[in-house]
Amino acid sequence: MPSTSKVLKVTSTKFSTAPTSKRMWDRVHCCLYCEKVVPKIARHLQTHHAGEALVVKALLLPKKSSARNAVFEDIRKKGDYAYNSKVIKEGMGELLVYKRPKVGTMGPADYLPCPHCHGYFVKTALWRHESNCTAKKTSESPKLSNCQMAGGALLPTKEPCSSKLQTILASMRSDGIVLTIRGMSGFASMESTM
Ligand SMILES: [Zn+2]
Ligand SMILES: [Zn+2]
Repeated sequence: MPSTSKVLKVTSTKFSTAPTSKRMWDRVHCCLYCEKVVPKIARHLQTHHAGEALVVKALLLPKKSSARNAVFEDIRKKGDYAYNSKVIKEGMGELLVYKRPKVGTMGPADYLPCPHCHGYFVKTALWRHESNCTAKKTSESPKLSNCQMAGGALLPTKEPCSSKLQTILASMRSDGIVLTIRGMSGFASMESTM
């Protein structure tokens, strides 16, 4: 990580100014389809991307059902993951994390993406999330080191790698294959064969 971490931050929970000091529900997400950062992502998806396969899938499910929420959450996490990858590569901006910390308590280095759902979690809490992650297909219990290694492998690569290849890797299920590809030295040159 370059020494630009001064400008790379984590989005945090914001509170309105005194006297109320109420928590502000101003959370934003990055749209997977148009890459805009928007406050009401579910509404945005329904208004602007109703033709996308995943959005269609969500809208066919009963309103307020957990299945529908799960599809929207999947779209949200994928969009945020793409955004975070860009922010980390550029070394500036704000990471969109799954649970926003209080201001000043966490830094970008404290976070890793879940290898299953790609949501950004605090490293030390990632194993706990992973054991409950709804995107996880297998039932094996995660080990801390494996889980962090897998999350780390999802971080943007050091080698220059086109957005096309990044997209392909991000869209693949994060199983051993992707992790193996990412672990290979010079994998970016594979692109020429694609
Ligand atoms: Zn959009
Ligand atoms: Zn997960």
